[in-house]
Amino acid sequence: MSHTPSTLSRRQLLVLGSLLGGISFATPAMAQLRLRNLLDSARDLAAAEMLTAEGMRPVFDQMSAQMDRENPLAPPNDPYARRLASLTEGLDNYDGLDLDIQTYLVPDVNAFAMANGTIRIFSGLMDQFTDDEIRYVIGHEIGHVQRDHTRRRMQGALRKRAALGAAQGAGGTVGQLASGELSQLFTQVIGAQHSQQHEREADDYALGFMRNNGYQPMAAVTALEKLGSGSSGGGVPWLQTHPSPQARARRMRAQL
Ligand SMILES: [Zn+2]
Repeated sequence: MSHTPSTLSRRQLLVLGSLLGGISFATPAMAQLRLRNLLDSARDLAAAEMLTAEGMRPVFDQMSAQMDRENPLAPPNDPYARRLASLTEGLDNYDGLDLDIQTYLVPDVNAFAMANGTIRIFSGLMDQFTDDEIRYVIGHEIGHVQRDHTRRRMQGALRKRAALGAAQGAGGTVGQLASGELSQLFTQVIGAQHSQQHEREADDYALGFMRNNGYQPMAAVTALEKLGSGSSGGGVPWLQTHPSPQARARRMRAQL
């Protein structure tokens, strides 16, 4: 979901729709309590500024759990899951981030990462990409997390919410806020398109990721060219990037 809010597929609309339709928390009471504390403290603009990556973790944990409930997560013996496990072998942790990389069995060419290390690759993307091209996507998504794009976006969303709460006299119950907030945060933090600069930073990070892990860096170029050529199908979310995939591919090629 990391690249476009404007051309969401039917599946993504289902995903977002179910999020917007109401969140049922199946998480332990302690996690709920922490989330409530976080959302309560985020009513204060200063508190939003102070939030650390670790402080935001409960929100991402809730989002991840919700997404996994609402999407067909590939079971461990599924061919897609086995392929992804194989091509990410040894990647339990990268750059200080514990990773949980799994597949959603959905046709979209898409992927996303959250600041808690949750990475979900859609089977539609795996159908189109080679192993190393998938690794580039993973590296790019980790880049958005590690370059602080995700945390800053979460801060912005919480700040906006805090301002809104102040304007409305901070009415409403915490439960209502938590439920509505989570779906809104998902759209704002994970579903929104990144800026050109953030895409470049994530791409640069991905090149380092490829080199450090002994993967083929040129896969970054071929993955973007594949997206840019339209051979992977029109209107797919990972394609809807700004700048265009072709421009990003040229830039990557020049660096190699
Ligand atoms: Zn990106």
